[in-house]
Amino acid sequence: MSPIRKTLRLRQASGATAKHYVRLAAFGLLAVLANAALSAQNTPTAVYDRVITGGRVMDPASGLDAVRNVGLLDGRIAVITTEAVRGRDTIDARGLVVCPGFIDLHAHGQTPETYRFQSLDGVTTSLELELGSSDVAAWYDERRAGERINYGVSIGHIKVRMSVMRDAGSFLPVGEGAYRAASAAEISAIEKGVERGLLEGAVSIGAGLTYTPAATREELLAVFRIAARTKTPVNVHARGGVAGVTEVLSLAAETHAPLHIVHINSAALAETPAVLTLLNDARSRGQDVTTEAYPYAAGMTEIQSATIQDRYRGVPAKQLAELEWPRTGERLNRESFERYGRLGGPVVIHHNTEPMVVAAISNPMTMVASDAYWQEGTGHPRTTGTFSRVLGRYVRETHALSLMDAIRKMTLMPAQRLEGRVPAMQQKGRLRVGADADLTIFDAARVIDRSTYREPSLPPVGIQYVIVNGVPVVANGQAVDGVAPGKAIRAPIDRH
Ligand SMILES: [Zn+2]
Repeated sequence: MSPIRKTLRLRQASGATAKHYVRLAAFGLLAVLANAALSAQNTPTAVYDRVITGGRVMDPASGLDAVRNVGLLDGRIAVITTEAVRGRDTIDARGLVVCPGFIDLHAHGQTPETYRFQSLDGVTTSLELELGSSDVAAWYDERRAGERINYGVSIGHIKVRMSVMRDAGSFLPVGEGAYRAASAAEISAIEKGVERGLLEGAVSIGAGLTYTPAATREELLAVFRIAARTKTPVNVHARGGVAGVTEVLSLAAETHAPLHIVHINSAALAETPAVLTLLNDARSRGQDVTTEAYPYAAGMTEIQSATIQDRYRGVPAKQLAELEWPRTGERLNRESFERYGRLGGPVVIHHNTEPMVVAAISNPMTMVASDAYWQEGTGHPRTTGTFSRVLGRYVRETHALSLMDAIRKMTLMPAQRLEGRVPAMQQKGRLRVGADADLTIFDAARVIDRSTYREPSLPPVGIQYVIVNGVPVVANGQAVDGVAPGKAIRAPIDRH
């Protein structure tokens, strides 16, 4: 039987099951039927591609938190049962949590090296939605042979602006892309660039107001209007604090654009509680706004970017010492700031406090997203440790949030944020029959990040298996070499 027909048969089986379930539930035969349905799907002769046995299966969508066996077939979850299952391959998950694979809405890098780092941290889908790309079709083409994990990109206002304004920067704007106001013709070229990216299947629209300080409200409104018209979320790096978040809420409210504010921890810093209240109020008024956070008190970005140059040029020495050059670990002074500024490269920004990180991570509104950042052999420890750090430090060690809530922030919530534009996301972030077989299997008693600002490439411990579209990319805590089951996450392409 062809894989498609085999999958169809299983789908039909689960459809019929649901119908019988409703009919018989009325007669109080719920328990009898539940068992019958499981045996109907899991016949004694069924052999799955892979089975995961004896794990604590946790699914935030259904609330399931119980020991189950899981069978995978043709890249999908085919059965979840208390009965014995047979597979061509078996993963013994006794003592481990089995949950949907982690979906990261904010990951720079997007190279084989960063996909490998992220897979070891439990990530099965890595999306670059903040900076994005200026050429969405080319971005997907470069990866069409498959990657270790699923991947996707936004059409980035910053990147489109860099190309329209002919900015010399490679990663972020360093000249006219940041500092020159666009003419009417240039704004129209930026709009066309964003529209083209959406037609090519961009997952969302990216923006970062501190990286493009010369972009006027008129230019930003033009971009937000496209988002509203196409019902596409804008993943925006807001200017700082209550003022910055108020600005993006108002751009979104005026245009009715769906809004996702990235890394609320570093956007809000000491004003995190006030900003979270602001977001909660906006949501109560019916505004479509979501947010995310990463679990570290320091940030990182390119030293030549406007975000760093505008904030730190001319500040007192004490404030300059917030900056750390990651290659050496030294804190910067006026002389080294100028010198490294000419050289270029990532800089660590020690600008937040632990209580603010806890407030951001534990709030029910925030998703977990890494903002993974890696450049030429160095980067931020969040690249390799974000998800294991939340599970180890904030769930197990400090009880800042429950395990199910943490998993929800890493799986279901990011999937739901995108599924309006990318219907394929309805099959991710859930552990249910028919969903994509993207799974993360970890030891909740042991999981923890190991990377530090000085040694940011260390893999975490306790993430034992990571499965992407049915294929293990991490096994026994080690990266599996030579596999590329990751597929493009892309909005449907309108060919008209
Ligand atoms: Zn950012």
